[in-house]
Amino acid sequence: MRSLPYFCRGPVIRGFGRGSKDLGIPTANFPESVVDNLPADISTGIYYGWAQVENGDIHKMVMSIGWNPYYKNTKKSMETHVMHTFKEDFYDQILSVVMVGYIRPEKGFTALDELISAIHSDIEEAKKKLEMPEHLKLKEDNFFKTCRSTTSNQILNGHRL
Ligand code: ADP
Ligand code: MG
Repeated sequence: MRSLPYFCRGPVIRGFGRGSKDLGIPTANFPESVVDNLPADISTGIYYGWAQVENGDIHKMVMSIGWNPYYKNTKKSMETHVMHTFKEDFYDQILSVVMVGYIRPEKGFTALDELISAIHSDIEEAKKKLEMPEHLKLKEDNFFKTCRSTTSNQILNGHRL
């Protein structure tokens, strides 16, 4: 995918209340403005990369880009699971992410336990891949050091200002 690595940031909004957290896999949702800026060659599916809440530590993440049921599947959604245990929720806080690689397309699952085990294997794959030197380098990118008041709209085509 030509557009990777792809940098973006925005406030965390409330999701669809599908209870991801109850499954042990909370996903922080980005607003429409961030989703609408995605380059055309970023397809739906599961991505991995790095994530930071406000000016906190940088953690590994997996992200699902899917079709948003709230808009009758006409718009995409971006949901990030950060591989870290946070003391508190971080709704309305700024989440900065860099998507560095693609794991797989979206799948239809018949059973919930299938879905959960697929996500766990995505997480394991992401953890491993992110140890590659070219991926570790992105963790140190200036993007994560820049002003957090910069909104996603100020990051043109995923290139940091
Ligand atoms: P929602 O439907 O509102 O997205 P979720 O059950 O998916 O609810 O939980 C997501 C929320 O949980 C995030 O918006 C964030 O505030 C919080 N959260 C806590 N820990 C994490 C984590 N490790 N990764 C992502 N979100 C987390
Ligand atoms: Mg969610």
